[in-house]
Amino acid sequence: TSFGHYGFDNLLIQSIQKQGYESPTSIQKQAVPIALSGRDLIAIAKTGSGKTASFIWPAIPHIMDQPYLEKGDGPIALFVAPTRELAHQIYLETQKFAKPYKIRTSVIYGGVTKLLQCRELKAGCEILVTTPGRLIDMIKLKATKMNRVTYLVLDEADRMFDMGFGPQVQSIVGQIRPDRQTLLFSATFPPNIEELARNILIDPIRISI
Ligand code: AMP
Repeated sequence: TSFGHYGFDNLLIQSIQKQGYESPTSIQKQAVPIALSGRDLIAIAKTGSGKTASFIWPAIPHIMDQPYLEKGDGPIALFVAPTRELAHQIYLETQKFAKPYKIRTSVIYGGVTKLLQCRELKAGCEILVTTPGRLIDMIKLKATKMNRVTYLVLDEADRMFDMGFGPQVQSIVGQIRPDRQTLLFSATFPPNIEELARNILIDPIRISI
């Protein structure tokens, strides 16, 4: 298939085929090779473009290539999204591709009992999907640690800033090791997002759909 070009292993190709996806979308064609190469990325793309899969798929080999997968440790890939609905949607999409690898995905957001989410985080995960505020709460409660995060995705960054989560996003990024890979997705690219990109990305490749 046309998904074969990326060098994904069979397990991932099979999961993609199981979804009935026949060929990569335009954003996937552009973003996946960049994400796989380890470079930072700015992707200007809207919902419906297939953007979610374009950051999930490269996260799988990123995680599988880690030398250790210790139980009980914090996430290796962190996906930050503006709303519960989006976080939940990303979580469902991630599960489809991560589960066959026994990669554990967790999702946390406001409106759910902190105690339950603490318990889930303490059990450990490799991928964490979250909204900004709830992650900060969980870090404060020492329910999870950011020390293993090397693959950071900010999804719908413009919306997070519009909703007033700018300071929370900055605080989260500030707690993640600088040798990470960072992928920034945004539907628009206003000056505040441009400034964010300048501050948190290293020599990024910019694509626009
Ligand atoms: P997104 O823009 O990530 O919200 O994705 C929009 C929809 O496109 C979701 O329902 C995905 O499951 C679907 N999708 C993602 N990639 C593909 C693909 N390569 N072919 C067909 N559908 C896809």
